[in-house]
Amino acid sequence: MSSIDGSTRLVGLMGWPVEHSLSPTMHNAAFDALGLNWRYVPLPVPPGQVDRAVRGLTALGFRGVNVTVPHKEAVANGLDLIAPDAETLGAVNTIVVEWDGKGQPELRGHNTDHSGFVVALRRGGFEPEGGAKAVVVGAGGAARAVVFGLLRSGIEEVEILNRSPERAEGLVADLAEQDDWEGKLSASALTVEVLIQSTRRSDLLVNATPVGMEPREQESIWPADVPIPPRLTVFDLVYNPLETRLVRWARRCGARAIDGLGMLLSQGAAAFQMWTGEKAPLDVMRAACERALRLRR
Ligand code: NAP
Repeated sequence: MSSIDGSTRLVGLMGWPVEHSLSPTMHNAAFDALGLNWRYVPLPVPPGQVDRAVRGLTALGFRGVNVTVPHKEAVANGLDLIAPDAETLGAVNTIVVEWDGKGQPELRGHNTDHSGFVVALRRGGFEPEGGAKAVVVGAGGAARAVVFGLLRSGIEEVEILNRSPERAEGLVADLAEQDDWEGKLSASALTVEVLIQSTRRSDLLVNATPVGMEPREQESIWPADVPIPPRLTVFDLVYNPLETRLVRWARRCGARAIDGLGMLLSQGAAAFQMWTGEKAPLDVMRAACERALRLRR
């Protein structure tokens, strides 16, 4: 690891809690690989302190930060500019500090979650345009980014299935209002029967819930005794463990499966490039994350 000195540039992660995040590992490995004198630090910010923390970024000379739960909505108040996609999503996951010609700082908010998901999806071999249909399980912040990313990429249809159907309906109403997407979206209560039925006429299944995440890795949104159709692409946002029960079962059934680390890496790579102007070394970042995940087991 390179040393920290008076010229070290700083970026970090604001959230509560942040100690289990892989982002410091991923970004610091990238800085080291490119020989950049930068460090990425965890910034645990308690609820209620977000405005003060955001204001402090410029005074402390930060180039920017990532923002994670529960602050992705609240940080917007303290920013000077919000990119249109972050505005539509109502969530900022990356802040960049820019300095204008008069030496005044400007805090700009972006969202790289939705584009990170789509980049990882394409890298996994699935193209969302051309009449594709998707089923997204979950209706929280991650599902919102996934559905937005799919619609922006020209997907034909998205059905959102959620344990609490009213939350899925709320997400449909929100996104339909934002753009001409109403006819492409539907919502239903999540049951095993609906999931199996809906995926019969779909090309893509996305798990945007924590089901299957360590320490409850024996769980899956898909029943153990029902084969996954082999023409389906399965994307699990969970990356701990890297091969979830859902991903393992999909591969065993002959379906293509994409793990959640690709999305984490792609959203991180986009932020990395905004801050440093350098292309992120994805292979180095993935290797560092995989190593860290192995050490946690
Ligand atoms: P969130 O806002 O808390 O939403 C969680 C969603 O999961 C809700 O729709 C919730 O349903 C559903 N859910 C929770 N437990 C469930 C269960 N036992 N059975 C069925 N549904 C359940 O969380 P989030 O921020 O959207 O994150 C969701 C998952 O995505 C997390 O595991 C997170 O780690 C992962 N994630 C990964 C990436 C990545 O880069 N790979 C990025 C973001 C998030 P209700 O509405 O009924 O409560």
